[in-house]
Amino acid sequence: MATWITVGLAGAILLLLAVAMAYVLGWANQALAVQVDAKVIAVESALPGANCGACGYVGCREYAQAVPKGESITKCTVGGMGCVADLAKIMGVEVEQTWPYRPVVHCGATSDQRLQKTEYLGEPTCASANLVAGVQGCTYGCLGLSDCVVVCDYDAIHIIDGLAVVDYGKCTGCAACAKACPRNIISMVPFKSERIFAVKCSNQDFGKEVKAVCEVGCIGCKGCAKTCDLFEMAGNLPKINYEAYDPDQVDFGPVLEKCPMNSLVWVGKPSEKDLAAVKDQEVPDEIKADFKTSVDDAEWRG
Ligand code: SF4
Ligand code: SF4
Repeated sequence: MATWITVGLAGAILLLLAVAMAYVLGWANQALAVQVDAKVIAVESALPGANCGACGYVGCREYAQAVPKGESITKCTVGGMGCVADLAKIMGVEVEQTWPYRPVVHCGATSDQRLQKTEYLGEPTCASANLVAGVQGCTYGCLGLSDCVVVCDYDAIHIIDGLAVVDYGKCTGCAACAKACPRNIISMVPFKSERIFAVKCSNQDFGKEVKAVCEVGCIGCKGCAKTCDLFEMAGNLPKINYEAYDPDQVDFGPVLEKCPMNSLVWVGKPSEKDLAAVKDQEVPDEIKADFKTSVDDAEWRG
């Protein structure tokens, strides 16, 4: 008899505990529930899901959470204008004027144009070579050991003749290459037209020193800055004011003629208009346009 009473009591206690736990869990479920904004869900589903961090956030979800709080809707470079239009619709705002940002490698020297090189036998990465003095005379230029290539998920940047070259047909503008470059020679530039004018050098030294280490480096002669208002000297290097850059208004012909080092180039993908402008000229098959403004007269390059 005593045994049955003990079993009954134990059962009753367990039942009471189960009811109490169910009540506590039900309460916690309601009290601690994370309210997910419907807009966050909609924004996240409109993003490409690349989680590349180009927007400045850790991933697409974090950016999706920031947009309803007032973050700009134009930060996803991978999604491009289609994504901006979708976000504008979700947020009920006008589409802002925006440009696709794409990388420009500010070095135009191929292996044989770089001087004072020594054999580098260390770990074959740019990050490691960057720590070693004397790998090549120019301490600003591309090391050509593929750190940018390795991080590109889109197969859009390659090493050609020792120099990082962007394939603008594949590039999504995720900026991973720019972040990976230990020399900081890749910048993200607003492409206001499919091809855009750029300075292909990062060497801040004086002309004589530049000439000693590179055949195509900018010597800081200021010729470009004196010829065109878009150029401003920042130390010994010119910078292009891309804010003021209007592809339809600027004639870069005189600037190109002034530059004695061919440090100024067109980069990007030539548009139909660009190709039409040179349709009567004899041009290399690969590019179907004469862009011999670059360090390489023979072929168009990114
Ligand atoms: S080249 Fe590759 S890594 Fe660099 S921005 Fe374009 S897609 Fe991103
Ligand atoms: S004209 Fe050429 S060499 Fe002279 S500062 Fe400009 S980019 Fe450099």
